[in-house]
Amino acid sequence: ALDKEQMQGLRGIREFLKVRTSYDVLPLSFRLVVLDNNLLIKKSLNILIQNGIVSAPLWDSRRATFAGLLTSTDYINVIQYYCQFPDEIDQVDQFRLSSLRDIERAIGVLPLETVSVHPTRPLYEACRRMLKTRARRIPLVDYDNETGHEMVVSVITQYRILKFIAVNNEKYTILLKKSVREIGLGTYSNLATSSMNNSVLDVIHLMVKYNISAVPVVDRDNKVLNVFEAVDVIPCIKGGAYDELSSTVGEALSRRADDFPGIYTCSEDDRLDAVFETIRKSRVHRLIVVDDESRLKGIISLSDILKYVLLYGEEEDDIRGS
Ligand code: ADP
Repeated sequence: ALDKEQMQGLRGIREFLKVRTSYDVLPLSFRLVVLDNNLLIKKSLNILIQNGIVSAPLWDSRRATFAGLLTSTDYINVIQYYCQFPDEIDQVDQFRLSSLRDIERAIGVLPLETVSVHPTRPLYEACRRMLKTRARRIPLVDYDNETGHEMVVSVITQYRILKFIAVNNEKYTILLKKSVREIGLGTYSNLATSSMNNSVLDVIHLMVKYNISAVPVVDRDNKVLNVFEAVDVIPCIKGGAYDELSSTVGEALSRRADDFPGIYTCSEDDRLDAVFETIRKSRVHRLIVVDDESRLKGIISLSDILKYVLLYGEEEDDIRGS
């Protein structure tokens, strides 16, 4: 019966995602900061910080086209470049956003796929595309009929989508009574962690190696103290001060903005409906799974939740088909 109810909840949410569009997720009024591709990378950092954002679409004004999404991963790439070519610090200072693709090539990482969706396509499609490309955010790109040019309408994140689901589907999310443990939600082995005394650079290397966006910070007893996130890198290199990357995680975390939403934990016995309750009420970007003594057990990313909600129990063929 629990299985049946759970599936009923999941199907309800999936139907909802099929009848809503990406456009529906956007708030009534919002602001969008778009950065010109010709801007110095160093300057882009300040603009993000001043605007309290962690990502922005890039615009190629020469070709009048959308030129991809700037995210913390790009800054991490610049840092890796700096580590590999420390003698070129003067050059790193002169890099423009348009050089990001060259930096990717120089350090040998695969270029991020520049996926986008049309705002009036079903939200379900945007979700599937995000899961497929592992993108945490996806730009909504439309065409301006008058000029014939591309137009970036906004960017939607996994965070926004899950919030949208949680707020509008209470009647389905309350059916999700299986526990995190029962459905195997999240990652519980091979966890990448850090101590407060590791350097920021160490943690960045961990994030690159594991291809993850957050590393729990634990003490000697594996008790969770905090979480270092990829976006925490941004204030660390403000003004092009790459030497600050040798400072400790503890120091870096003290540079967080005052409105930092905090970290969220749950237990393996918490039910998925409770997870959605947390998403509904708070600014959750991941859940850290802990035991009764706040020792680290696992981590549940937003992509883990989205994947479960969209794909659990789907026919194999159906998954491959889209
Ligand atoms: P998202 O894609 O939502 O930003 P992450 O990149 O943090 O999330 O996570 C990608 C995958 O790696 C998820 O399946 C998540 O459970 C797992 N993961 C996240 N953080 C860690 C970590 N510190 N150690 C090991 N695995 C992790």
